[in-house]
Amino acid sequence: MTPGTPNLQSLALRHAARGFPVFPLVPGGKTPLPGCPRCRRSSPAYEPHDSAQCPCLLQGRWCHGFYAATLDPGLVRRWWPEPGAGRGVAIATGPARLVVLDVDRHPGTVPGADRILPGRPVTAAQATGVRDGLDVLRLLAGLCGEPDPAQGAATLTVRTPSNGLHLWFTAPAFTSWRSSAGGDHRGRSLGWQLDIRASGGYIVAPGTTTASGTYTVLGPHRHPQLLPTWLAGELTRTGHLLDTPARAERTDRPVPNRAAAAARATAVPGGRRGGAGGGAWARRTADTVIGQVLDCGRAPEGTGWSAVVNRAAFTFGGLVAAGHISEAAAHTALLDAALTARPHRRSAALGIIRSGLAAGARRALHPKDER
Ligand SMILES: [Zn+2]
Ligand SMILES: [Zn+2]
Repeated sequence: MTPGTPNLQSLALRHAARGFPVFPLVPGGKTPLPGCPRCRRSSPAYEPHDSAQCPCLLQGRWCHGFYAATLDPGLVRRWWPEPGAGRGVAIATGPARLVVLDVDRHPGTVPGADRILPGRPVTAAQATGVRDGLDVLRLLAGLCGEPDPAQGAATLTVRTPSNGLHLWFTAPAFTSWRSSAGGDHRGRSLGWQLDIRASGGYIVAPGTTTASGTYTVLGPHRHPQLLPTWLAGELTRTGHLLDTPARAERTDRPVPNRAAAAARATAVPGGRRGGAGGGAWARRTADTVIGQVLDCGRAPEGTGWSAVVNRAAFTFGGLVAAGHISEAAAHTALLDAALTARPHRRSAALGIIRSGLAAGARRALHPKDER
């Protein structure tokens, strides 16, 4: 540990100057600094709205986590008053055009051979040597006939306080990549304990210290290298390639998954009284609140899951009452998202969703600006 106070303002300025948009973290933690009461989900003054279009961001506030990420040195100086108010530095990987391979090394039960590398046959003998994400990555590289990128310094490599690795790569031109969690067996995954931080994700910048330790650069590289073709191929095979960069920008939100897709698919275009644009508004509203529930899964330190699920259910209740979505579809989308964020809280989720939907259904929800 370095003596003295690290200057987090200069750290943030350095990362921003290299083209990596930054935003501040809670001192000692790895969750974003909370936004203003109107934008903060845990606040009683919270008003559900689309993060990407929040006026706070235009006013230079840090509301909405990675949506606030900036390259502007003036804002950086304001957000990190010298030497930085203890606020760690996070980088929004999507707009930074980074694809970060997050290699976890958590002790835990190794899943069955079929779940170690989804879509690739792993023999029982190969599975025997697997203890953590580092072994899974070595196995994947070996199956592809490539050198292990975690050895031999393939690119800028950062050691995390939990002894995991962040391998930073730049996205090839005209490509954008989805984020994913390697433990998520229900969605896309490159491999067990191999997360992808790209569009809709963020990483803690090296030089930041949390309560568990410091993120430190290892090896010779000071800049990320181009995502190797074989790894791009593996990410494409596992569903991480976004259709087009333009689409990626529009959907640059926390890990999209089946729940949001379900909400989109089932929102009734127009709705009972929706008229033109009501369907799109309802889909956006549904997407936003589902995204907020999924966000809880990305912030295990944060509490407030039940409040967020409750608010989401309340909003969905209003959409159901207005005829934008069926109650069954709302229930499915909410439960799917709630359990993605907190897999072990099924009975709590069911109770919160039932009461939230009922409370929300007392007032039909329509676009405020609807004619
Ligand atoms: Zn705000
Ligand atoms: Zn806002």
